[in-house]
Amino acid sequence: MSAGPGAGGLPDLALSRGEVDRAAARRSDTEWLAQAWADPRTRVLVVDAGRALVRSGGGHDELVFVPAAQAPDGVRFLLGIDAEDVVYFGVAGPLPHPDSVQVPGSEVRSATLREVGPQLSDRDVGLMTHAVALGNWHAVHTHCPRDGAVTEPELAGHARRCVADGSEHFPRLDPAVIMLVTDPEDRCLLARNAMWPEKRVSILAGFVEPGESAEQAVAREVHEETGITVGDVHYVGSQPWPMPHSLMLGFRASATGSLEIRVDAEEIVEAHWFSRDELRAAVASGEIRLPPPPSIAHRIIGSWYGSPIGGNW
Ligand SMILES: [Zn+2]
Repeated sequence: MSAGPGAGGLPDLALSRGEVDRAAARRSDTEWLAQAWADPRTRVLVVDAGRALVRSGGGHDELVFVPAAQAPDGVRFLLGIDAEDVVYFGVAGPLPHPDSVQVPGSEVRSATLREVGPQLSDRDVGLMTHAVALGNWHAVHTHCPRDGAVTEPELAGHARRCVADGSEHFPRLDPAVIMLVTDPEDRCLLARNAMWPEKRVSILAGFVEPGESAEQAVAREVHEETGITVGDVHYVGSQPWPMPHSLMLGFRASATGSLEIRVDAEEIVEAHWFSRDELRAAVASGEIRLPPPPSIAHRIIGSWYGSPIGGNW
């Protein structure tokens, strides 16, 4: 696996991989788009509510593509062009029946990015992340926020335009910060969110608010949730997280004042400082469970820890 430039200081983040050229310049070329759709080599990935069909066999998972002629009706989007000039589209619509795309010696199932992201190739995970993100956006932007009129896709599925007032609407992202905070002894702050299963802990996270920088959001969220004041906030990498439309921005930060934790008790039910030895012991005993791959939290904790952790990691 190679992450390319996509993941900042955290190479090989599961959903930050990709190798297909997005071909943005082609999105307004309707003649080229029509020819590409008609080309028998063109491959279409169907996505439906965050799921796509995946084929397992020969020890690996791969996306199931269909020819354009077999694609269902639905919003269509250009995903890109690969090094062999094969064009990829996505369609948001009902998934083909697994029997219709079955190949001997393999098994076809529908899966989400959480379930299958880490197992897919760079090409496939990049295509699926792109398609799921656009599919999720189109599903909830069918009408104009200004006047309630219908919007229609354009720019090969990378924008929508209102039929009444002509306003153009682009896919939206919700930027979220996620941050590993350390104390002067290089202990790491892990917390349990009220919504999570028992024993699950992770690093702190929250959405960036309007009029706020990502670094300001890091400091505000850490203080709101645990009472800890931080400085030396620095970026470590990012990952698209289209569930439904976040962009996770990873940070490290250092506690600068009191190390006494006061949880907000609404969102965060408990938080503790862990040395590496304490973390290893707590994972091994089953006292805590850490976030699984493909989350960026998993990777940021791993980068602080310095090596893979066994048990329920
Ligand atoms: Zn409108």
